[in-house]
Amino acid sequence: MLCKSKDFDKEDFKTHFKGQNIMWLLRFKAIKIGIKEILELSNENREVLFNTYCEDLDFASGIEKRVFKFNYPSLPNDVKKVAKPFFTALYDDILGGASGIRMKGLSVTNLKRENVRKGFFKANKKEYGLNATCPACLGDMGMVSDDGYADLDHYFTKSLYPMLSISADNLIPVCKVCNTTGVKGSKNPLNDYQHPGGLLNIFLPYHRPGIDYIQIKMDSVKANERICLESKTNEEINKNRIKNTEWLFNLNERWSGRINSSINDNLINAVEISLNEDEIITEELVRNKLSKVSNQFLKSKYIVPDMWLSAEYARLLLNSPTKFKSFYFRILENSTTL
Ligand SMILES: [Zn+2]
Repeated sequence: MLCKSKDFDKEDFKTHFKGQNIMWLLRFKAIKIGIKEILELSNENREVLFNTYCEDLDFASGIEKRVFKFNYPSLPNDVKKVAKPFFTALYDDILGGASGIRMKGLSVTNLKRENVRKGFFKANKKEYGLNATCPACLGDMGMVSDDGYADLDHYFTKSLYPMLSISADNLIPVCKVCNTTGVKGSKNPLNDYQHPGGLLNIFLPYHRPGIDYIQIKMDSVKANERICLESKTNEEINKNRIKNTEWLFNLNERWSGRINSSINDNLINAVEISLNEDEIITEELVRNKLSKVSNQFLKSKYIVPDMWLSAEYARLLLNSPTKFKSFYFRILENSTTL
C-alpha cells in the first residue's frame, strides 16, 4: 500500500506501479481524482477497500457458497463516498468512452462497451450467421445503428454495486425492452436475498443460466394462451430463482404476448410447409410434423429469436389433447380454404 499523502504525487505513483502499465489511467480526469481520493483514505480503509474489491469481483466462485455475501454495501460510508465515483469513472471513461482504450496483449485491443457486446455474440453464435437473440427474454435484439447490438446491462446494478460495473461476469447484452424501467432496468436481482448465501436464490448470467431449470406451463383465457414460468424440479430454491427471474424480466406477460401474436401462427406455417401436397391430413400426421418442427428448432445450427419458446409451446400443444385439437383444426381449415 502507498503511504498516505494529501497531494497526489505522480512520481511516487510511477515508482510504486512501475512496469504495471497503468500510467494511462491518469489521462482521465475523474479517474485521476478517484485515485487521489483513495490515496487520502487511511491505510486501514484502503486495505478494506482492496479486499472488498478482490472478494466481490470474484463473486462467480462464491455462487454455490452459503457464506458468500457482497461486501461493498457494508463498507463504511466514507469509503463508499470515495469508491463509488472512482468505479463509476472507470466504467464511464473506459468501457463507455467513445473510442475505448487500447489495451496491449488483448485480442480485442480497444476495450469498450460495443466490443464487449460484439464479443458476446461472436462467442455465442452457432455454426451459421449472427446471433441476435436476447439472452434474457430470448427475443429479437434488433440492430442498433452501427453500435453493435442492444444494451449492455449491469445485472448487479451500478448504483448499488459500483465495483462490479467493470466485471465481465456482470455485463450482459440484453434487448432494449429488457433493459427498460419496469422490466429489468435498474432492479436489483438480490432485492430479497441480500444475506449470506443470497446468490443461491437467483439465476446468474454465464454461471447459472435459468434455461436449464425453467419450463413453461400454459392456461387458456378465452382465445388467448397465458404462459407461466415454472420449475422443472420441486426444489424450493429453484422456485425462488424462477420467481426472482419473473420479477426481473416480466416473462410471463411478455411470452404470453409473443405466443398469442406470432408463435402460434409461425408453428402453423411451419407444419403446413412440411406437408406434402398429396398427403391426407390426419391428426396423427400433424402430430408427427409438429414434433419434428419442434425438434428441428432445438437442434438448429442457427440461434433464432423465440426458437426455445416455440419448441416449448409445441411441447405444450402436443401434451394437451384439447389444445392440440384446435391446432389441428386450424391446419385442416387452412387446407380446405386453399
Ligand atoms: Zn430481452
